[in-house]
Amino acid sequence: MKVISSLDDAKSFINDHKSDETISLIPTMGNIHSGHLKLINSASSSSLKIVSIYVNELQFDDRNDYISYPRTLADDLSICEDNNVDLVFAPDNSVICKQLDSDKNDLPKFTSYMCGANRPGHFSGVFRIVKFLFKIIEPNYAYFGKKDFQQLLLVKYIASTYFPKLKIIDVDTVRDSNNIALSSRLSKVSRESLHQVKLIFQTLMIMKKKLLSGLEYNDVKESSLLDLEDNNISVEYLDLRSLETLKEQVNINHPCGIFIACYIDNIRLIDNIEI
Ligand code: AMP
Repeated sequence: MKVISSLDDAKSFINDHKSDETISLIPTMGNIHSGHLKLINSASSSSLKIVSIYVNELQFDDRNDYISYPRTLADDLSICEDNNVDLVFAPDNSVICKQLDSDKNDLPKFTSYMCGANRPGHFSGVFRIVKFLFKIIEPNYAYFGKKDFQQLLLVKYIASTYFPKLKIIDVDTVRDSNNIALSSRLSKVSRESLHQVKLIFQTLMIMKKKLLSGLEYNDVKESSLLDLEDNNISVEYLDLRSLETLKEQVNINHPCGIFIACYIDNIRLIDNIEI
């Protein structure tokens, strides 16, 4: 496995391989866990597997969150090595910053909802890093998780607008035995609070069941919000939204999902369930 941090080395590696190999890209911010591994292992073993590891400052609206984001490069590299990754591209901040500054972006409407409404600049940061990675790595396939569903839609928009030959593959959310969606931020939640984290997906499942049984959306939402708040979970949003446009829905007549962002121990966690 090769590890590259310089842009020129990454470009020449890609040039040496792109004509006769299919390239699969798995972008991450590191602190590799089983969720990331599912993306890595979803990529065809006959393709050239490239994992990028970069904690993108531009997509953090909270400086403390950026500073305290778990960084575990040595462990990440050995996990990648054990999982047949061919290249880890782990650029440092100075390499990326120079490249991203001049890049303008046109964000689609749906990025103004949910995480976009609550994290100023977040999707602009995602847009810039994803477009940069697609331009440098020129992948044929790129793998993204449905846990970050709004991000996944943005990535699909970037691909269809600027990289029409690139295929985005979405990967189902990996959960632990308590149905908690794996996330790098989970390592910052105290053991005592894990019972609260379990309630996130439990709530989504209960809401889905109630909606499928015909209960009114507003009643379902209201009682779930009360339950979560009773358990000291501070909810940023809990919405029923279209899977295509992310517009808010009041019934389940169209393909939709329930999306949540909340804080436990001051750590922001997100999850979703499709209906
Ligand atoms: P991150 O390192 O958090 O930026 O995530 C990198 C990629 O892994 C993104 O496409 C995420 O959606 C995906 N991912 C993160 N957690 C999970 C999970 N629990 N299951 C599936 N994919 C995930």
